[in-house]
Amino acid sequence: MVLVAAAAMAGSRLAPAPSLESVATGTPATSAPLIAAPSAGPPVASPSLTSASAAPPPPTLVPPPPSLEPTAFPPVTLHVPILAYHVVAPLDVAASDLSKLLTVLPERFEDHLHALRREGWQTVTAGVLADALEHGRLLPPRTFVITLDDGHDDGWTYALPIIQRYGFVATFYIVTGLVGLPTYLTWAQLRALQALGMEIGNHTIDHLALPSQPAAEVLRQVAGAQAIFEGHLELAPTTFSYPYGLYDATTVQAVLATGLLGAMTSSGGLEQTWAARFALPRINVRNAWTGAQLIRSVNRFR
Ligand SMILES: [Zn+2]
Repeated sequence: MVLVAAAAMAGSRLAPAPSLESVATGTPATSAPLIAAPSAGPPVASPSLTSASAAPPPPTLVPPPPSLEPTAFPPVTLHVPILAYHVVAPLDVAASDLSKLLTVLPERFEDHLHALRREGWQTVTAGVLADALEHGRLLPPRTFVITLDDGHDDGWTYALPIIQRYGFVATFYIVTGLVGLPTYLTWAQLRALQALGMEIGNHTIDHLALPSQPAAEVLRQVAGAQAIFEGHLELAPTTFSYPYGLYDATTVQAVLATGLLGAMTSSGGLEQTWAARFALPRINVRNAWTGAQLIRSVNRFR
């Protein structure tokens, strides 16, 4: 997984993307320790999605600028381990060599969650974490987040029963263009996951490396995916996961303009703040780790 740690706090230093000037209001997203939530209101209008090679959307279709007024809430710094999984399945189920690399075996996944439960850890979804950052609210000690990226159907077959066995919740970051394809979750399964208390997050339409794309395409991948989710799900995503963990100022602006509250990286780090909510650190959990090793990793946050 390619990391962009150096850019992790980049929102405060990088210039807004020219094509998104209408939403940038001249103040980069993370230049102040506190800014207002961009998305508490109803879903914003999304650009047309009729063509994969669409021209930049007309200005009237760009979401309205988020408020950058300081919030009334005091800043908090949270120390919540966010676990990143991709495939939870037996190795012979993993579809490709890359999937095999990203696979955690079900029995290992169970080791991890069993150990966390035994040590008194509790889950919240990524959306709850982002909401806590927005409102300056602390979360209980030993709170952690489970994320599963890419929307493989093993999330339903293997991961979900284990997550439920321990009374946990998870956030599934879904690529809309893969939904319903062989070996991927279906829209019906995504709605069922939401009904079970799980969360669906935005992981773009096509899982492209966003920093190499034109700004209009970046916005289409983020806001366009959000519109597709809104069309299929009761609850629209409130957080985002960067494909391959890659992002830049244009990417951050697109996530902000779409009204999302936070974004997951593949980079390490031991804290979350509102100012850095578009560069949330995660722990890339490996199959080689025992439950005890994972406990040592999350205990660094306490
Ligand atoms: Zn991914």
